[in-house]
Amino acid sequence: MALTHVLTPIQVGPVQLRNRVARTAHGTRLALYSFDDLIEFHYRRAEGGVGLTIFEILGVHRTTPASLNVFNPVHAEGYPRMMAKLRPTGMKCFQQLWHGGHHSLPIDGSPPWSASDQPSPEAGVVPIAMTQMMIDEIVEAYAMTAKKCEEWGLDGVELHAAHGYLPQQFLSPNTNKREDDYGGSFENRARFTLECLAAIRATVSKDFALAVRLAPDDAAGGSGVEDNGRILELIESKGLADMFNVSLGSYQAFPRLVAGMHEPMGYELPTSVPVTRRAKKVPTLVTGRFRTLEEADAVIRAGDASIVALSRAHIADPDLVKKTMAGHPERVRPCIGCNQGCLAGSRGPSARVACTVNAGAGWERTSGDHMLTPVAKPKRVLVIGGGPAGMEAARAAATRGHKVTLVEAEPALGGVVKIASKAPTRATMRDAIVWLEQEVYRLGVDVRLSTYMDADDVAKEGADEVIVATGSTPRMDGVQVTNPGEPITGLEQPHVLSSWDVFQDERRITGKTALVIDDTGHFEAIGVAETLQARGMAITFVTRHISFGPGVEMAAMSEPALSRLSARGSFSFHPRWRAVSIGKGTAVIAPTFIKLAEAMPGQLVTVPADTVVFVSPNRSNRDIYDALRAKGASVRVVGDANSPRFLNVAIREGHLAGIAV
Ligand code: SF4
Repeated sequence: MALTHVLTPIQVGPVQLRNRVARTAHGTRLALYSFDDLIEFHYRRAEGGVGLTIFEILGVHRTTPASLNVFNPVHAEGYPRMMAKLRPTGMKCFQQLWHGGHHSLPIDGSPPWSASDQPSPEAGVVPIAMTQMMIDEIVEAYAMTAKKCEEWGLDGVELHAAHGYLPQQFLSPNTNKREDDYGGSFENRARFTLECLAAIRATVSKDFALAVRLAPDDAAGGSGVEDNGRILELIESKGLADMFNVSLGSYQAFPRLVAGMHEPMGYELPTSVPVTRRAKKVPTLVTGRFRTLEEADAVIRAGDASIVALSRAHIADPDLVKKTMAGHPERVRPCIGCNQGCLAGSRGPSARVACTVNAGAGWERTSGDHMLTPVAKPKRVLVIGGGPAGMEAARAAATRGHKVTLVEAEPALGGVVKIASKAPTRATMRDAIVWLEQEVYRLGVDVRLSTYMDADDVAKEGADEVIVATGSTPRMDGVQVTNPGEPITGLEQPHVLSSWDVFQDERRITGKTALVIDDTGHFEAIGVAETLQARGMAITFVTRHISFGPGVEMAAMSEPALSRLSARGSFSFHPRWRAVSIGKGTAVIAPTFIKLAEAMPGQLVTVPADTVVFVSPNRSNRDIYDALRAKGASVRVVGDANSPRFLNVAIREGHLAGIAV
């Protein structure tokens, strides 16, 4: 298909974009580690052909600290260096200007600032309703920050007036209870946003672009499609924006803000397009889990927007545009919509962006496909195990020019992902292994399926390097992490299943009631519950954790799943509980924090359980690794065979092993 629209240049105010492919602002938090990490992250995407990048939130004032702040001298020093590196690539760069309002806790520990005194679901602290002096101070801060961005060499700024941040706290009746010139009528609620835009316009030069991000917040009583359409018209009529970036969601509806795998491509269009269509001349930009230039082209061709963002798609593959323009869209590594590396990475304990499928994302200075340079002396590399870790190891080694053999005991590649992708809403996971499989064949890896090897077989191969990626299997020993001294009894019965049993052969599921024992906190048990519930079964779900699915990204994965399970009914959730014994048709459960000998009346509860599913940490398949080590062989172990964890870790370990040989 000819990409006649998405590859056509477009004028955004004073700035011309080389194409209509954008990356919207998303948290990387890389500057918390090193500004050079941030520069390399963006440089890879600039080299890959992106037209416009909007950098992640920049805190405009000390009342709203972020991972990038205008008042941080390290960041002030970093931006000109970043622009010096990015400018020759041809990618244009805007900076998103951010004040979180009631979501942000000021540096000095004082209360947050907002339109009124409504606390945020994020910070939960009662904010100060801003006085006129405070409003003036923040309006000026936006303008001064925009001026700084121009001095640093950027092409424009974007006022973040969406997702429930400060400008939208003024716009939304949910958070604006004021009775002065900034509250009440639509015109009054829109005043703060307009003042910010006008102040920025008056401060920067005419060569500097000004965009604004808007979004229906998807909250009852909030700032919806109509409010956002009206404010767009008002801004355009006053000439205060060169581009409208329209998305969806707020902290009251976080799963809509960054969609998980359960949302279809373009899921935001039903709420974005009624807003973008109200722009008469100013270009518009939309987001919404798009992954290919074909999808983007279709949106623009339909007249729904002028520019399309492929943000996570570019975390997964920085060379998306380049590969597609070279006639190889099939070589683009697909984003699977898991949010485990990007969203959970930047919001989680590591506080830095990563990617499940792209081991180099966030680590561009040390790894990634651009580091897979040809070796001077190719070696013979044997990879044992054709799951994601093994395939990534084989791909990385073969890309460098090694002669790679990949052996897999099963008749197909894919490992545990083949099984996991059968869970409801998880089908997109399969894209990750389909792509890896296609790449290992394209690179000429000698793939041998249905081939089991022991240590003697490996020795006969005579490989220079051996990588073991033999995965893991469920351990059905009844031992629960919190109470290892009191294993569950009755596990040997045929109605007690592993998650693999459930996903691979639903015929083993019997009856109308089920007990799901979640000892991992990951999507495995959630997928089991959804599979059983889809068969009309009533579910009792016990977990050692204090919340539901804490091992997966909360907003876009566990929260929507809990919402689905609860909405269908017959779902009983027991945090900090465990299983004690399994009988026929029933099971006994108890709190995690008691010894059975000291259980009080009411603490041992019998629940209906025609089927029982035990989901616990797997056991590594590392016999061959241990045997090779015992023979003194040089061998590496990666992925679940090393320690059963998650897909992102498996792929990264495989990648690093493939680089290291
Ligand atoms: Fe996509 Fe998952 Fe990578 Fe995020 S971590 S970019 S959702 S594949």
